[in-house]
Amino acid sequence: MVDKKALLNLMAEIMDPEIPVVNIVELGIVRGIEETTPPNIIITPTYVGCPATDVISEMVREKLDAAGHSDVGIKNQLSPAWTTNWMSQAAHDKLRKYGIDPPCAHAPTCPRCGSGNTKLISAFGSTPCKSFHSCKDCLEPFDRFKCH
Ligand SMILES: [Zn+2]
Repeated sequence: MVDKKALLNLMAEIMDPEIPVVNIVELGIVRGIEETTPPNIIITPTYVGCPATDVISEMVREKLDAAGHSDVGIKNQLSPAWTTNWMSQAAHDKLRKYGIDPPCAHAPTCPRCGSGNTKLISAFGSTPCKSFHSCKDCLEPFDRFKCH
């Protein structure tokens, strides 16, 4: 009997290595638990070639081992490809609080003052997954998670 909830709760303790305020379940990286014996954690990398992908696999392995789940496997699922639509609303809210404009569904918006009066500075922000903008109202620069 696989305790899916316990495994998912464990996964929710793993924060994204680049954005330490959101966990990998909220980001949609953990797709679910395969109820085999032993079970597998199914993960989908955010971007193929994103340097965080290997780090996340290692973090999942360490977390499982530390919790006594050395038998639980990790399965990479590349298809369907990860999309920013898989991020939960909670993840969006946390990103904004952290100063990163969450992806999609709206025009670039300053996460600090909420102004839509912004300017793209660079297509690449602190990581390839983000673009870099500045706010014309509060003059703060900010990262925006790219829609993907
Ligand atoms: Zn602003």
